[in-house]
Amino acid sequence: MRQYDFVVLGGGSGGLAAAQRAVEYGASVVLIEPARLGGTCVNVGCVPKKVMWNAAHLAHSLQDSPAYGFEFSKPNHNWSKLKEGRDNYVKRLNEIYLNNLAKKSIELIPSKGRFVTAKEIETEQGDIVQGQHILVATGGVPSLPNIPGASLGITSDGFFELERVPKRVAIVGSGYIAVELAGVLNALGSDVVQFLRYEGVLRSFEDALGNLLLKNMQTMGIEVVTKAIPNRVDDSDGVVLTVTDGRTFGNFDCLLWAIGRQPNTVFLELQKSGIQVDDMGHIVVDAYQNTSVEGVYAVGDVTGQAQLTPVAIAAGRRLADRLFNSQHERKLNYEIIPTVIFSHPPIGTVGKTEAEARRFYGSELVNVYESEFVPMFNALTEHKPKTFMKLVTAGEEERVVGCHMIGTGSDEMLQGFAVAISMGALKSDFDDTLAIHPTSAEELVTMR
Ligand SMILES: Cc1cc2nc3c(=O)[nH]c(=O)nc-3n(C[C@H](O)[C@H](O)[C@H](O)COP(=O)(O)OP(=O)(O)OC[C@H]3O[C@@H](n4cnc5c(N)ncnc54)[C@H](O)[C@@H]3O)c2cc1C
Repeated sequence: MRQYDFVVLGGGSGGLAAAQRAVEYGASVVLIEPARLGGTCVNVGCVPKKVMWNAAHLAHSLQDSPAYGFEFSKPNHNWSKLKEGRDNYVKRLNEIYLNNLAKKSIELIPSKGRFVTAKEIETEQGDIVQGQHILVATGGVPSLPNIPGASLGITSDGFFELERVPKRVAIVGSGYIAVELAGVLNALGSDVVQFLRYEGVLRSFEDALGNLLLKNMQTMGIEVVTKAIPNRVDDSDGVVLTVTDGRTFGNFDCLLWAIGRQPNTVFLELQKSGIQVDDMGHIVVDAYQNTSVEGVYAVGDVTGQAQLTPVAIAAGRRLADRLFNSQHERKLNYEIIPTVIFSHPPIGTVGKTEAEARRFYGSELVNVYESEFVPMFNALTEHKPKTFMKLVTAGEEERVVGCHMIGTGSDEMLQGFAVAISMGALKSDFDDTLAIHPTSAEELVTMR
């Protein structure tokens, strides 16, 4: 039996970050990971998704370019070339992670791990490793619905394996992964039909963002089917999707489920450690990422907390600061989490929505400022997607507690505003900041 200060299960965003930080403090660390390093984000998430979004963004730019005087015949898109470039880029990242582990003397065991006791992990090879501290960072996997024929569809994992662009694709889901992949496929030439359980998309975000995005998706040619709850899939006419009210939609050559993700705990045998999970199977943690078992911690998607790479990384690093560098009170503040949705146009959001702020502070203490406009870039173009921005303030001093935007450039605009909001900026600080002209961002410091 081998013994370590820190045993980390999962070499994704959270596990790698925690392992690397712990070793910097002199801890002996073993990382147990059965697949390619980097986890969801690097292999089947943020990174390859952003490459695809870049391609879609270029497709839109090509569509807009005649308005700026460019003349050319209709460009072809070579999906295989894009996939090859994307896959090679991801492989390079996998190698960088592997080299970093070797450089930092983090031992890697290429295997799944499972609990034998609360202090001991067994690998697939039958070895037992013992840890003074054990971190579970095994992430999540995409969910499939429990209906006949569901396996005729793919998930976001399968999207990254597609060898060619599907001609006609059904996407089921209304969350950020569903709208992002719909936008990419639409821009790169698929006929996309998007199936929503209710009427809208991005229902946990500021209402106006989802509403405007949905309009724009329809303008771009995405067909939207609302109140559609799938209850059967067959392959009688291409892939055929039937929904609970009897409507049938067929002739798809691809069906993509984007209906959520579930924690990746199947192999872990958590019951042997006594670790508590919630109704959805997520590992329950306190504010310090402690599980219900002393000496066992969890970070990232497996906990169900804000499922984003920077969140998993920050939680992992703070945990290592606490365990191995005596920063006893170190923990992640989950209150202000900036996030971007790589839709078309992109969405950036940080802090409370108007509804959340009204519930939290009391309606009378909340003010909102909004602006909707066609960005200058689109003054010349045929397609005129609108930009919308909203600030939510609280209290008499008008602290900015929420910033929400949809429009070209929102993805890169948000980070700086997230700094200001994290620092507690007031609306008057925004007003006192000189505008940068002509930009879309200037609207955020000129709202009245
Ligand atoms: C399509 C898509 C797009 C996304 N886009 C973004 C984005 O733009 N921005 C963003 O911030 N986030 C994005 N995310 C979310 C982000 O990828 C996750 O939040 C992040 O990867 C979570 O990190 P993690 O460490 O918790 O888990 P993961 O990165 O999933 O890593 C978990 C690792 O654990 C391993 N593992 C599983 N079981 C075991 C076991 N028994 N023993 C040992 N190892 C095990 C897995 O092989 C995996 O490598 C996206 C996700 C998806 C699916």
